[in-house]
Amino acid sequence: MCIFCHIVEGAAPSHKVHEDEHTLAFLDINPVADGHVLLITKHHQQFVEDLPEELYNALFDTLKGLVKPIQVAFDAPASNIFINNGPNAGQLIPHVHIHIIPRPKKTGMNIFSGAARFRPRNREYFEEIAQKIREEIRR
Ligand code: AMP
Ligand code: ZN
Repeated sequence: MCIFCHIVEGAAPSHKVHEDEHTLAFLDINPVADGHVLLITKHHQQFVEDLPEELYNALFDTLKGLVKPIQVAFDAPASNIFINNGPNAGQLIPHVHIHIIPRPKKTGMNIFSGAARFRPRNREYFEEIAQKIREEIRR
């Protein structure tokens, strides 16, 4: 059983900020910023795309309700909200969780920065990439 399942069961400690039938939100033990919250489904599933519809909807419904209170609590006009969906994407705990990190000021933390991002790419490049994705969506 994973550590987040232990937290759901109450077998491991956590600082909960929200709980309902399907979801649980608690503080990240190694916060990137004050107010760094993890939102999970109580049901164990590693990948977001494998969540049953009802749980998927419950997860994002809870997210919607949590964002504003978390931001306001830390006087933050913004937040980073993300899922590391699999080990290649930095997922350490194999149980779907959404990071919610309030951002009171610009900290420069941006997972989308980095020099490789800004090398020039032509129209054909983008068209080829978009085509690959469209084909898979249609499959
Ligand atoms: P990820 O890399 O997306 O899998 O993130 C896992 C997150 O879980 C990290 O930010 C950890 O700090 C956090 N974490 C790991 N164990 C615990 C725990 N027992 N309680 C709260 N947060 C945890
Ligand atoms: Zn689990």
